[in-house]
Amino acid sequence: MTVEVLRYCPAAPNGAQKIKYEIEANNQTLLEVLTAIKTEYDATLSFNSDCRSGVCGSCAMRVNGVEVLACTYKVHDGDTVEPLRNMEVIRDLVVDSDHALAFNKKAHAYGSVSAVTRNVTPEEEKVNELQSACILCASCYSACPVYEVNSDFLGPFALTRSWRYVSDVRESDVSDKIATIQDNGIWDCTLCNECVPVCPVGIAPKQDIVMLRNKSGVMGYMDPSFSANFGGGFGNDGTPDFGDPAF
Ligand code: SF4
Ligand code: SF4
Repeated sequence: MTVEVLRYCPAAPNGAQKIKYEIEANNQTLLEVLTAIKTEYDATLSFNSDCRSGVCGSCAMRVNGVEVLACTYKVHDGDTVEPLRNMEVIRDLVVDSDHALAFNKKAHAYGSVSAVTRNVTPEEEKVNELQSACILCASCYSACPVYEVNSDFLGPFALTRSWRYVSDVRESDVSDKIATIQDNGIWDCTLCNECVPVCPVGIAPKQDIVMLRNKSGVMGYMDPSFSANFGGGFGNDGTPDFGDPAF
């Protein structure tokens, strides 16, 4: 079968060039095929991999424009393999995802020092069990059209991880976590859903962002675009202030 790989090529106009490989493959994973190309045809082919079992997230890349893990995706004749989008390509299929990963810290998406120590019931654990399973593959940042045009957008997995801690019953005060996701965060998401089908562990960042919006509303925040158009803020009775009634 034939597989095309977008390779690093400084002489090409956009710094990359598609190279076609004829390979013997039958029901093999993309990682197995890339390893065979590297071993038998071209030792300079660069890609990341580690666990080879869909756990570490290091081999995320795109096939035919869709984010996959190379170690779990089964190759088909005519596939085109490219690096993740929205990140600097270091070489071939290796990208630098550090900028996206740093948003976990910016979103305060970690346990607080003020968190209380107590047992968590199985029901309470289920609330954010899936969000805890994120493998930081960065596929959702590659798929996100908002991150594509705004590199300051906190983005899918940082917001998913934020919800993981905001919804944790041991977090006694989440005001600082909610405050830090207001700008370039939950209200900038268009709820387009592009981040959901690409997640290899079944996380739905869009849904977690909706949950963070609901929590923010309860804590007195509102969509800044809504605020700009309709006056904004909340009245003394806690209901939204719609500004000039003649508007
Ligand atoms: S739903 Fe929001 S976070 Fe997810 S891809 Fe769309 S804009 Fe990005
Ligand atoms: S939320 Fe899913 S797609 Fe995004 S980094 Fe985590 S595992 Fe990968």
